[in-house]
Amino acid sequence: MRGQDPGADSAALIHALVRAVGRDCADTSKEARELASQDVYRSIDMPLAVVRPGSTQEAQAVLRACHEHAAATFVRGGGMSYTDAFLPNRERSIVLDTGRLNAVREINAEDLYATVEAGCTWAAVDAELAAHGLRPVFWGPMSGRLATVGGAMSQGAVTFGSGRHGPSASAALGLEVVLADGSVLLTGSGGQPGHSPFFREYGPDLTGLFCGDAGALGVKTAVTLKLEPRPATGEGLSFSFNDFSLLVEAIRNVSRHGLATEVFGAETELMRQAAGAAALKQDARNLFTIMRAASGPLQALRKGLRVVLGGRRFLKASEYLAHFLTEGADAEELRMTLRRIRRAVGERGVEVANTMAEYARAAPFPPPMIVSPTGRRLLPLHAIVPFSRASNLHEEYLQYMEVIGAECEQKQVEAYVVYSTSGKAGFLWEVVIYWEDEWLSFHRRHLPEEMSGVAREGRANPEGRELVERMRVELIELMYRHGAAHLQIGRAYPYARDRDPGALRLLRSVKQQLDPLGLINPGALGI
Ligand SMILES: Cc1cc2nc3c(=O)[nH]c(=O)nc-3n(C[C@H](O)[C@H](O)[C@H](O)COP(=O)(O)OP(=O)(O)OC[C@H]3O[C@@H](n4cnc5c(N)ncnc54)[C@H](O)[C@@H]3O)c2cc1C
Repeated sequence: MRGQDPGADSAALIHALVRAVGRDCADTSKEARELASQDVYRSIDMPLAVVRPGSTQEAQAVLRACHEHAAATFVRGGGMSYTDAFLPNRERSIVLDTGRLNAVREINAEDLYATVEAGCTWAAVDAELAAHGLRPVFWGPMSGRLATVGGAMSQGAVTFGSGRHGPSASAALGLEVVLADGSVLLTGSGGQPGHSPFFREYGPDLTGLFCGDAGALGVKTAVTLKLEPRPATGEGLSFSFNDFSLLVEAIRNVSRHGLATEVFGAETELMRQAAGAAALKQDARNLFTIMRAASGPLQALRKGLRVVLGGRRFLKASEYLAHFLTEGADAEELRMTLRRIRRAVGERGVEVANTMAEYARAAPFPPPMIVSPTGRRLLPLHAIVPFSRASNLHEEYLQYMEVIGAECEQKQVEAYVVYSTSGKAGFLWEVVIYWEDEWLSFHRRHLPEEMSGVAREGRANPEGRELVERMRVELIELMYRHGAAHLQIGRAYPYARDRDPGALRLLRSVKQQLDPLGLINPGALGI
């Protein structure tokens, strides 16, 4: 087929894709191709088709067709990333959307594992496992209402469970991966006929090889997740801080003892603006959500009262807020852990109403905010650093913002810092850049219903857009100087730059062996 006239060859490719998944699931409409070519940040090229396989066999047939016709495959899960991670960057390409790979294949409550298809959202997996009193040890990012298990395993994610277990890969026991030539590969103990997939560390960690690969090594079609019992009870504590290094010290003290299951926070100004934009109706809905999630009527009343009394007062003073969520097997264990968290924070911060912490516990997967509460476009950029380096990184960032402050104001660009943790030793520092601009069809399509009427599309702002792109490059450079590691590498973070030559040679030879024509997520990881 290859080497023919490109128009005829594209038609032959589409024909093969239709044969693989059926006409309804091989979409060549402009609308579908445009939507699939956009992430939260931007868009590059359009694919020839958006293909939605509904089984491993269909995914195999799709990859075989692309291999045969030398077309690139860009794999899209929930599409909730912003690092060009699945954006087509060449004409001859398709987007493989995993949305129909959404079955829960097995829940083994006795041996504590579940095998789910890669296109399952984290919210769907959580709901399914709740009925069994179980959850994965890492149980999703905040975008988990739309973000998928395959997406988080491929690019690495943190949040629910990360305070104790680290990033998403900690929950992977084994993977089913379809390779560029359409063959299937299994990792973990389930990779031998009739064996249970309960154990990851049997021999070299091939599951780990595919976790965080930015989808460059193959298409994950199923993931076996490590489970644990859901906790009986939990609570969140919130603190305000006036000094960034004291905030870092407090988070370090809590994290190193694994006291919090989740840690997150932001500059108070960001929270103030979000609260200002939210309608009172939204506050009432949040209160209802918190009370509904309480484990009994008395607890609901206590939590509801505390939220009403605390209201938004905690937003008045202070520079930074941090929230620590924790859990216990019973009320006594929970009380002890809460006491230990308060002691670990000590005099560094002031305890404030835990409204936001309780809301996050009650509604872990809210509709993803893909624009700011007022409708500004957004781009998050993160760095994972050891606690010892976090304050210097933040200090240099403040100096950088001082230099470009006036230009940002003039071009309607703002930036705020948010933070969380990954395991006991990783501080995740993130700048979220907001700017006034028109939306992509992605934003119109995924705007949460709660935000319609409040968030408004802005006017085209090419100058602001250009400044954001410059800030993206300069801030990633700043992070590199501070020794940052990253999740969500995609095509944005400099993973391959200056990497140990032996390690890079090994990785490139693995890519060459699994995808000799370089057709799966080309450019991802920089290999
Ligand atoms: C409002 C909001 C909140 C967020 N909250 C968090 C958070 O709390 N924590 C966090 O870490 N991140 C967060 N994110 C970032 C992002 O949503 C997550 O990292 C999420 O895991 C992405 O999953 P996805 O399914 O949308 O992946 P996609 O964006 O679809 O894809 C990401 C990468 O994985 C690859 N990929 C996807 N599926 C497969 C597959 N089956 N096989 C091979 N490769 C595949 C893609 O090619 C791409 O390289 C947030 C984003 C937004 C917009």
